Amino acid sequence: MVICPRCGQPSLYAPSNPARPFCSMRCKDVDFGAWANEEYRVPDESAPLADDDAEAN
Ligand SMILES: [Zn+2]
Repeated sequence: MVICPRCGQPSLYAPSNPARPFCSMRCKDVDFGAWANEEYRVPDESAPLADDDAEAN
């Protein structure tokens, strides 16, 4: 048994829990989304903005 890093509830740390160390997939998704959003925000500035037109052709 471990503590879910997201909500602090006891969570089962075993292969039967695909969301471990989180207590549920919901908690895992929330945590993943949080850091994933931050990751994707970093290269946003260097991404070309007016490249969509060339690709559509
Ligand atoms: Zn949780």
